[in-house]
Amino acid sequence: MKLILLGAPGAGKGTVAKLLTAVDGSVQISTGDILRGAVQAGTELGKKAEAFMKAGDLVPDELIMGIMGDRLQEPDCEKGFLLDGFPRTIPQAEALKELLTKLGIKLDMAVSLDVPREVILDRLTTRRTCSNSDCQAIYNVKSNPTKVEGICDKCGSPVIQRDDETEEAISKRLETYNEKTAPLVSFYEKEGLLMSVNATSSDVVVAAIKEKVGL
Ligand code: ADP
Ligand code: ZN
Repeated sequence: MKLILLGAPGAGKGTVAKLLTAVDGSVQISTGDILRGAVQAGTELGKKAEAFMKAGDLVPDELIMGIMGDRLQEPDCEKGFLLDGFPRTIPQAEALKELLTKLGIKLDMAVSLDVPREVILDRLTTRRTCSNSDCQAIYNVKSNPTKVEGICDKCGSPVIQRDDETEEAISKRLETYNEKTAPLVSFYEKEGLLMSVNATSSDVVVAAIKEKVGL
């Protein structure tokens, strides 16, 4: 399947994407994971992106389109892809539309994961992420803790609270989301591609998406 996952930080895009990869072998493409990997590896891209990310601001559209233009042409995308955290602005959505037309790729839909603000805030402050850039598994101290406190179940690396998951950076990210990303919902509605779903439970979201794409 070829999907865009839309939703506020903490709506569960990453969790849903990971669950969907197991359904039909589509790949998860998370711009956040790619950028955090680049920051850790100290690449040119990482150096350019780091300060924006730490402040909870968006990384400039040109950098993101450079990453995605390459990524969507890699052979593993042929089976399908789940775009998690991209597009994030109207210019990115327009550039993506053009890119997909050029590559002859047709999207199935853009899924908007709708979650109440209180749930979002609670999820973000209790979220923990594996510090190993090749793993980046997501946990939650309340609803999905690691088996051994502070240690990733999958790879044994320490799990951490992300730099942008301080209260201050979180409110900045939510503000950025409302201003820059929320308008994408009407963009995809106009394109005739929108599916909105109540995303309080990730399993319910996955079931609804499977049904809609006929899997
Ligand atoms: P979340 O969805 O939980 O906010 P992500 O892991 O998707 O977190 O992104 C983390 C940070 O990476 C964002 O706050 C932003 O700085 C940067 N980023 C990720 N994707 C994009 C994008 N498509 N455009 C601009 N910046 C991005
Ligand atoms: Zn791990």
